[in-house]
Amino acid sequence: MMNEKELMKELKEINLLQQTLGILDWDIQTGMPEKASEDRSEVNSYLYSLYFSKKIGPKIKEAIQYFSEHPNELSETGKIVFEKVKEDYELEYKVPEELMTALTAATSTAQVQWQQSRETKNFADFQEALTKNIELTKQLIPYWKKDEATDYDVLLNQYEPGMSVEILDRVFQQVKEGIMEIRKTLAEKGREPDTSFLSRKMTKAQQKRFVTGVIEQLGYDFSRGRLDDTIHPFMIGINHNDARITTRWNEHDFKMAVFGVIHEAGHGMYEQDIDEKFAYTPIYQGTSMGIHESQSLFNEIIIGSNRSFWEKQYPFFQQCAEGTFDDISFTDFYRSLKQTQASLIRIEADSLTYPLHIIIRYEIEKMIFNEGVDVAQLPTIWNQKYEQYLGVRPSNDLEGILQDVHWSGASFGYFPSYALGYMYAAQLLHALEKELSIDEVLASDDYRPIKEWMKEKIHQYGASRKPTQLIQDATGEVLNPQYLIDYMKKIYFSVYQVAEFSSEKEGK
Ligand code: ZN
Repeated sequence: MMNEKELMKELKEINLLQQTLGILDWDIQTGMPEKASEDRSEVNSYLYSLYFSKKIGPKIKEAIQYFSEHPNELSETGKIVFEKVKEDYELEYKVPEELMTALTAATSTAQVQWQQSRETKNFADFQEALTKNIELTKQLIPYWKKDEATDYDVLLNQYEPGMSVEILDRVFQQVKEGIMEIRKTLAEKGREPDTSFLSRKMTKAQQKRFVTGVIEQLGYDFSRGRLDDTIHPFMIGINHNDARITTRWNEHDFKMAVFGVIHEAGHGMYEQDIDEKFAYTPIYQGTSMGIHESQSLFNEIIIGSNRSFWEKQYPFFQQCAEGTFDDISFTDFYRSLKQTQASLIRIEADSLTYPLHIIIRYEIEKMIFNEGVDVAQLPTIWNQKYEQYLGVRPSNDLEGILQDVHWSGASFGYFPSYALGYMYAAQLLHALEKELSIDEVLASDDYRPIKEWMKEKIHQYGASRKPTQLIQDATGEVLNPQYLIDYMKKIYFSVYQVAEFSSEKEGK
């Protein structure tokens, strides 16, 4: 016999272990003494094995059997939670343990090889480990496969349920052409902004005062969160009262931390707003990587590129900078933030060229899993695509195919989430603007209407609704990349003062 209370008790115990692992992970990345890493990995692997053995353990197995036959004994919330538990369980229990162990071993070897190949700047030193990661992932696909059309679809669905090659081929083609056309117009008719003052010194304390003030106004709750320093910034949701964000600082590039913190706060606000009734269950998390990224990018790009937002914030920014920017007019300052330039490195890319970096990775991953491309050819393909789409060519593999950590961790299918998040964010903006004027809200002292809208449409549901349904319900239609292209035109044609376009598109 099994009842809902018993299932919830087991899920809570699993969640408590997960919370502990989360805090340990946060500690590793923010403050743990360097020498403690071996001791810590002992604690971690002990707790992780407890966590994992419970997650696919006999209690959960019993609950799945029982409630599959007696679904009506579950409450409304219980049903939602149960569906997710069942889904996660089926993904995990099917995979043979030896295969998972082999993948764990392969990815840790690959991490080391990837680091070494970065030093030699030579893909050949990473090729063997990458080939192994690909091979093992290909062996895993049949265990994960449900009704997906291709192998790469299976990988996409790990991060974005409901996403497919068929959809992405179409939307990415549209986005690619749209961006290349915008870039062409800017090159022919645009006026480059002056960015010479962006590297002026702004101390960490000055930047911190500004950006913590901004994210509090945006709705990040510091009584249920905190901001710490790290090397690779992230947000980690521990529980309803604890969603932490991190950043790194550069005193001669305030944009890095200012936009970085606004980005992570978007992830944090999502986690802080999930309905409390889902606490201690696997529903208490973002529903997909793409939706999570839509929230951080809505903050960072949609709000962070808004002229009214900066017009309102600039006096506060100048005050925090204590005189450093007093000679810079608002318009010059605002324009400098939106300079665009083709670059080789994804994480340094601006908000116009960024999706092209993702599309290149998507096309290559698809070639690996659906077209059986020769791994040795990948650097050549990579460089050709950069030349073709962005007009720049890496001079070595470190500037090219070796720049991202994802493939060394076998995270194939992850990259598209970044671009999906951006497209969702632009589509959400379009829907939101039917109900309220974002310019007016951002010019005011009260940003709550935006956060409340997002909470109602996205945040509160946690993982109880799939991305496709959330976007459909919030915006009234399926993913439509045209909103992103229109949005980019509006921002960049105005910043680059392409007059004929900026007025023509105003009413759209
Ligand atoms: Zn993010």
